[in-house]
Amino acid sequence: MTKEMAALKNRTSIDAEEEPPGRSSRMPIELDEEPPSTQLTYKSNFFRQVPEKDWNDWKWHFRNRITTVEELAKYLPISPNEQTQIRLVAAKYPLAITPYYLSLIHQFDKDDPIRKQAVPCYQEMAQGNMGSEDPLEEKRDSVVPGLVHRYPDRVLMVLTDVCPMLCRHCTRKREWQHGSWVRTPEEIDAMLAYIRSNKAIRDVVISGGDPLTLSTERLETVLSGLRSIEHVEIIRIGSRCPVVLPQRIDQELCDMLSKYGPVWLNTHFNHPNEITPEAARACDRLLRAGVPVNNQTVLMRGINDNLETQMKLNHGLLKIKVRPYYLFQCDEVQGTEHLRTPIETGISIMEGMRGHTSGLAIPTFVIDLPQGGGKIPIQPNYVLVQTKQELIVRNYKDRIVCYRNPKGSSVSGNGSRNGNGKKNWENNRLSQNQKPVSNPKIADDNRAFIRS
Ligand code: SF4
Repeated sequence: MTKEMAALKNRTSIDAEEEPPGRSSRMPIELDEEPPSTQLTYKSNFFRQVPEKDWNDWKWHFRNRITTVEELAKYLPISPNEQTQIRLVAAKYPLAITPYYLSLIHQFDKDDPIRKQAVPCYQEMAQGNMGSEDPLEEKRDSVVPGLVHRYPDRVLMVLTDVCPMLCRHCTRKREWQHGSWVRTPEEIDAMLAYIRSNKAIRDVVISGGDPLTLSTERLETVLSGLRSIEHVEIIRIGSRCPVVLPQRIDQELCDMLSKYGPVWLNTHFNHPNEITPEAARACDRLLRAGVPVNNQTVLMRGINDNLETQMKLNHGLLKIKVRPYYLFQCDEVQGTEHLRTPIETGISIMEGMRGHTSGLAIPTFVIDLPQGGGKIPIQPNYVLVQTKQELIVRNYKDRIVCYRNPKGSSVSGNGSRNGNGKKNWENNRLSQNQKPVSNPKIADDNRAFIRS
């Protein structure tokens, strides 16, 4: 062992129980035990006359979406100046809000997190030259229209660009300018034919737009087509309906989905105010139909970019039996620059959660890399020094601990072999920037470097 490592190990006993100064933000936060509140302000104030039968009908909500500034101004106090700005933005990036989602907005709060996700704002245009239209380069990886094949065993079927609500942070905002479209039966057949002829594909993600805007009958045609392909093991549906149009998750849909399992559903709650009794019922219906529900949150400035909101969101999701799956860094999409946060914000939120709540409540923080680089997980660095024999790590309280590898083993030893005949460690090797750092002073001062 080097002198420096010995010095670091000695620190273990000194620092063990000390809470470092200035880290009080990582103390466990107080969370209220009440389920997240539901402010059905507009249902009571503005949609009071709507019969329950209509309010519970997803097609009524879809037909009655708020799509113009004039309609929006009937519900929200919007100054004439702001109306002009919204009109300008909406000419490029349209607006569409379901009455249900509108009902969750606090009328007089301009910073309301639901409002910020739904109502156009001038910064979408003012910073419109930042980012790119298609940072994930989905078009490049399209093998037939609507089918993205980037990873060998997975494909993405984009069935429509229609969504119940147009989220201001949407990665596929570029599609809004081309009007509404739904894939034709011929296009669906071409996608199915491609999947059928590629036996490596075992996992199909159905997305959009929101694929649950299709009729249940039309969706069933796609699912039954996929289920007729033997090598397709898993079907995943990406839908924000449980959040913005929970009425869509009706019994007819759930009965249909239950016939084609395993079907998983990934949804998209971003804020605890979205976890309403209606949303909870929608998720419960899916679960009872045998459809596990995971959540993918997008981290957004001024909406959910703090530890308290994220904790409350994830605890609320677990209460409705939805698993927090991913926390996404907001993509570099044109028209969303004002919502993006520095990477450090996400890392510090992750650090605030790890150790302070159960692992089940902690999503994986990921960046979906530009240029179609795929998703990579980002987390605080807990490994300070690594050799073949041992690791020196810090825990969530900054306690430094040495973890020893089994005696007689090393990464260059007799590792087991995988299916390719390679030793497992060869596939799992550390990245260059996680190589042992010889000087512990550097290791300690440059945690950000080790992390990056
Ligand atoms: S539901 Fe998804 S695809 Fe539709 S607008 Fe929102 S983020 Fe975009």
